[in-house]
Amino acid sequence: MDRVFPEMKKQLGFGMMRLPMKGDVVDIEQVKRMVDLFLENGFNYFDTAHGYINGLSELAVRECLVKRHNRDEFLLTDKLTGQYFKSKADIRPFFQSQLKACGVEYFDFYLMHSQNATNFKHFKACHAYETAFELKKEGKVRHVGISFHDRAQVLDQILTEYPDIEVVQIQFNYLDYDDESVESKKVYDVVRKHGKPLLVMEPVKGGSLVNLPEKADNVLRELDGGSNASYAIRFAASFEGMEMVLSGMSNMEQIEDNISYMKDFKPLSDVEFESLWKVRDIFKSLNSIPCTGCRYCVEENHCPKHILIPDMFTCMNKKMIFHSWNQDYYYEDVLTVGNGKASDCINCGGCERVCPQHLPIRKLLKDVAEEFEKD
Ligand code: SF4
Ligand code: SF4
Repeated sequence: MDRVFPEMKKQLGFGMMRLPMKGDVVDIEQVKRMVDLFLENGFNYFDTAHGYINGLSELAVRECLVKRHNRDEFLLTDKLTGQYFKSKADIRPFFQSQLKACGVEYFDFYLMHSQNATNFKHFKACHAYETAFELKKEGKVRHVGISFHDRAQVLDQILTEYPDIEVVQIQFNYLDYDDESVESKKVYDVVRKHGKPLLVMEPVKGGSLVNLPEKADNVLRELDGGSNASYAIRFAASFEGMEMVLSGMSNMEQIEDNISYMKDFKPLSDVEFESLWKVRDIFKSLNSIPCTGCRYCVEENHCPKHILIPDMFTCMNKKMIFHSWNQDYYYEDVLTVGNGKASDCINCGGCERVCPQHLPIRKLLKDVAEEFEKD
């Protein structure tokens, strides 16, 4: 496969949004070991954003990567997120604060974060794209791109209006491939039509494609021994134009597994593709809630009732898919202690406005309340 960015040494990137934690702080010593192992094995791409772990991800990048390795040993991507600027004047100070937090003089890639129809309007009104291209001219950013969460048609509009965008990060995995709300394949086709290279996020759909229901898991056990994550990540990397697949790695075990099959990447065979389509069909027949656990809906006080939305969806999925009955106790004694219950939702819609998966959260919370608040 021809690479547009040959400086990306391998096709696997270290997503720093789900780092190992020790209570409320990042487990810095473990992240240092993870970063070192990643670099030692020839990988060099790291991805962060200011909102990841409430600002702690950027600081972990500085402590674990930047302070301990030469700048030319790694590529670093950061993002401009809409909630941190209200006008054009806010963008440069925010950008400078990101450089400082990460301890670098420039970013290799700077992405307009989470672009959808609504965010795009805000970015345009604030001349965010123009500002990013100016930063590129000044050498503070090497490449300008976007991360995208909306329908294919919205992406077509963005890439038509801003043809200088160099790279597009999309959600791409075998479950969302033909999903009607995510439209991964259609979005991919639009990016290819515009001749842009791609970066992939959510290849394991927030972990959903790692912990598979038994019937689906059995399908992958018939293959030749790879982990569930390995098939999902190799699926994304097997498509033409995929420069980089991000994995949000949370411990040494995950990084070791990822390195084992991405160090010398081999595209999926036809048999492996067929197995993944079978897994997709099994998954879909179970009607689980396709929440990725990104937590955008619970950050920045989006929910006035402090309902732990993604945790409730995980709880519901575990009960429905794995018939894990202790979820009732978990719901009652952990999730809703000091936080809102699903039935406390006041229908304000704040969560749905920021959900990149376009989930009907209010309706789903009613299902959760029906399941867990029966008495
Ligand atoms: S709609 Fe319900 S769950 Fe969503 S933010 Fe409002 S109160 Fe919270
Ligand atoms: S409900 Fe949507 S915004 Fe909230 S964690 Fe799930 S995918 Fe993310």
